Amino acid sequence: MADRGVADLLERARALDAADPLGSLREAFAPMGDVTAYLDGNSLGRPTRATPDRLRAFAGEEWGGRLIRGWDEGWFEAPLTVGDRLGNAVLGAAPGQTFVGESTTVVLYKLIHSALDARPDRREIVADTGNFPTDRFLIQSIADARGLDVRWLEPTTDPQSGVPGILGRQVDEAVSDRTALVLLSHVDYRTAGIADLPEITRVAHAVGALVVWDLCHSVGALPLRMDEWNVDFAAGCTYKYLNGGPGAPAFGYVAARHIPSASQPIPGWMGAAEVFRMADRFEPHAGIRRFVSGTPSVLAMVPLQSMLDLIEDVGMEAIRRKSEGLTDFIVDLYDELLEPAGAELGSPRSAADRGGHVTVHHERSEAALPLLWKRGIIPDFRRPGGLRLGASPLSTGFAEVCAGIVGIRDALLEAGATH
Ligand SMILES: *Cc1c(COP(=O)(O)O)cnc(C)c1O
Repeated sequence: MADRGVADLLERARALDAADPLGSLREAFAPMGDVTAYLDGNSLGRPTRATPDRLRAFAGEEWGGRLIRGWDEGWFEAPLTVGDRLGNAVLGAAPGQTFVGESTTVVLYKLIHSALDARPDRREIVADTGNFPTDRFLIQSIADARGLDVRWLEPTTDPQSGVPGILGRQVDEAVSDRTALVLLSHVDYRTAGIADLPEITRVAHAVGALVVWDLCHSVGALPLRMDEWNVDFAAGCTYKYLNGGPGAPAFGYVAARHIPSASQPIPGWMGAAEVFRMADRFEPHAGIRRFVSGTPSVLAMVPLQSMLDLIEDVGMEAIRRKSEGLTDFIVDLYDELLEPAGAELGSPRSAADRGGHVTVHHERSEAALPLLWKRGIIPDFRRPGGLRLGASPLSTGFAEVCAGIVGIRDALLEAGATH
């Protein structure tokens, strides 16, 4: 495209930034050093500007100054207090149903076992072959260990969004009175396609099955209504759109109706009815604390709380509007710049069907990546040729997105010239 075209796009981007009601919040994030366009907040969100100070204050004053007294002064309750904040700010969950635990993998492990224990007479699990590896690996190994069968659904092209995903009618056809649980992702980590969570939950419940939803790519990107949608169990990352930092602990949601009888497969002292009684046998806590296993990662919850401050201020509805604006703009830039360079769109065209990122495929993505990194442009790459262009709503600007995609177009063309 002629430079005139790029100049017009940049001008449009600056106008969008000027009109963005959340634009000033970009200043609430730590500077990015040599990076000019960060399009990977869907994999690792940026730290808030307050995070380095908060971490220093935590180490110096709370840990260093309060020492062991800190456990009585809030750390002990942190998995539940931070859980309740998450529930309220991003999950649509009333208090007492959310805990902060370990990695998403371990939290899912707990929730899957718990759901299966709640349906002891049922022999089948419904899951899909398009889910993230951890979800598929867990389902297969848990099914093997318990002697259950897995009905693997294949993603099919959604007539509405045009991208592969799991449809409500597929789940409807697969579930029966043999189904113990359905495990799916709400937003597809590759395509960003949104599954019809309320409908799929309804068809699972209609046969008496339970649902476990993976919310890794939806939490912090779109408003969620766990209670209203009647979800049974859900888990998700806090280091993607919740900017909790590398390895920040995941959360688990368990609907209040299941908690009193819920089992969990890693019963530890921190989930016991009376934690400091040092009892002979495990007696679960009456509440959501029973899902806590060992000593919680208090230090690793510090950055997340700084992001929750920002989210609580603006609310998920405004964040979703910004996110839709950003990904709509990315699709426009794809049409103008990337499609003419030979790329293919791998995400839904309509914002209503799409989470917080846009995937484009190009055979030279991998060759372009080192050029991009050198130039401070950071998209997310997934083999074979997928570039996920993530736009974390609060930290990403329209001009940033535009500069990034112009750079990606240039790098794809250059990588072609040298091959
Ligand atoms: C990112 C992601 C995970 C990550 O699991 P961890 O145990 O936190 O590494 C799991 N599931 C999905 C769908 C993801 O996108």
